[in-house]
Amino acid sequence: MEGRSLILDCNNKIGEKVKICGWVQVRRDHGKILFLDVLDRSGIIQVVITDKQDLHPQDVVCIEGKVNKRPENLVNKNIPTGEIEISAENIEVLSKAEELPFDMGGKELDLQLPTLLDFRSLTLRYPKVKEIFRVQAKILEGFRKIAKELDCVEIVVPEIAASSTEGGAEVFKVDYFDHKAFLTQSPQLYKQMLVPVFERVFTIAHAFRAEPSVTTRHLAVATQMDCEFGFVDFEDLLDLLEKVGSETLKYTQDGSIAFGKIPRLTLRETQEIIFKETGRDNRKEKDLTPQDEVDICNWALKNHKSDLVTITHFPTKAKPFYTMPDPKDPQYSLSYDLLFRGVEIMSGSQRINDYEQLVESIISHGMDPKNFEMYLQAFKYGMPPEGGFSFGLERMTMHLLGLANIREASLFPRDMERVDVRLSK
Ligand code: ATP
Ligand code: MG
Repeated sequence: MEGRSLILDCNNKIGEKVKICGWVQVRRDHGKILFLDVLDRSGIIQVVITDKQDLHPQDVVCIEGKVNKRPENLVNKNIPTGEIEISAENIEVLSKAEELPFDMGGKELDLQLPTLLDFRSLTLRYPKVKEIFRVQAKILEGFRKIAKELDCVEIVVPEIAASSTEGGAEVFKVDYFDHKAFLTQSPQLYKQMLVPVFERVFTIAHAFRAEPSVTTRHLAVATQMDCEFGFVDFEDLLDLLEKVGSETLKYTQDGSIAFGKIPRLTLRETQEIIFKETGRDNRKEKDLTPQDEVDICNWALKNHKSDLVTITHFPTKAKPFYTMPDPKDPQYSLSYDLLFRGVEIMSGSQRINDYEQLVESIISHGMDPKNFEMYLQAFKYGMPPEGGFSFGLERMTMHLLGLANIREASLFPRDMERVDVRLSK
């Protein structure tokens, strides 16, 4: 828009005439004077209007006027433009908004989750909701930055596959012309196929999971941030995953994260600690329970000043077919999870890179190697020792910001009940 100033830049334009464009956030009537809070991508500012105007929240306006310093006693220390205001001289309405279904003017958007999601294109505009996705963008940017620094090439992988990635029932079937196909449960197989091409790759991809359980930490479509590395051993992979995890979180510049040295524990060591600390005996379980994850994170924060903890050596049987069993004790695998503030945010492993061993593993997981023909080619023709990991974007966002439900950390969350709109009325 010609001559438009961004709201934040008005701080440097005291006494000058400006034109700002944005959305009416709040309208306050004080006798004959009307105050508007107007919001654009840079910030929010108070506009003073002396003649009555028919303006409502979410109307899109361009306002010309003079930037004035506010009287000392009316300075608002909570916003970056709190020392100034604009006295309006001309108002142009670019788009009128219908009456809102709820009040968006308060400090909190006091809505139940279903309403928050039913009106998503509206509620995303709310500053505190929008902030979640600004942080999420930082996580994505931080991940990309560290992955590139580690010499990974960014790849884009398909989301439709002829066989299921991880096996199991949690796979969406799709009609593919005259055939049945599947939505990928992770970018796993494709990123592995790229190791003999680039050695090191990363991808940001959707993972489709037909998880029939309704929890606060599972989505039907999640976003995974994946890396895969050739010529690495288990110790290298632990160093790499901890580097990527902590650098990605550091990039958000959230000062509240504890970055002490990350403790590394095997699953069995973890369960021993939990038994000692809480008396709960899960020492024979094949995975951590949600409460175990909370307890071991509390332990790590208390004893190592770390919000992150790495858990290794999950039982081989509980892991996908491509996971390398520990040669020293094949019942357990060279696998790892990274936990952050009480929840798993990442999984990964050293992979089986020997062709024959991989074929056997596919068979022993009850699957048919014929369905993995192209994937197996990568191993038939020279695959170095390799491994990698996968971070869940929404999980990281949720626990960084302390959100109660993962749906709040997805722009347009999909679950059993909802694909934008509620599926059952
Ligand atoms: P969980 O045990 O927590 O259900 P998972 O072990 O099945 O997760 P992985 O296959 O290890 O998940 O996926 C890698 C990462 O992707 C997880 O650590 C998690 O952060 C994220 N993730 C996986 N499934 C989901 C989901 N359904 N919704 C949101 N995030 C997910
Ligand atoms: Mg996992």
